[in-house]
Amino acid sequence: MAKPNVRPDHNGTQRAQFNSNKKKIYATQTVCGICGKRVDFKLKFPHPLSPCIDHIIPVAKGGDPSDISNLHTAPDIVGGIADRGRACRRYRVRSGTR
Ligand SMILES: [Zn+2]
Repeated sequence: MAKPNVRPDHNGTQRAQFNSNKKKIYATQTVCGICGKRVDFKLKFPHPLSPCIDHIIPVAKGGDPSDISNLHTAPDIVGGIADRGRACRRYRVRSGTR
């Protein structure tokens, strides 16, 4: 089976739902969904600790691309890293941002 080269949350079919859930999450969540530390909303991308929306179960592993139950706030540093909890904690320890 050929792999689709674009994800549903990126190519438009689920983009609106993803964006709407992203707004809800940013409005209600203030801590990292992975390590539980505060996420600083004053930080902007490309700062490694700027907030981003992370998939709890990665889309590549079958997680829902846009359902709110599969989304949480996390710092940008964890994006694309397999061991996200460890990446998150290690970065914070190294940078002193805890
Ligand atoms: Zn974290």
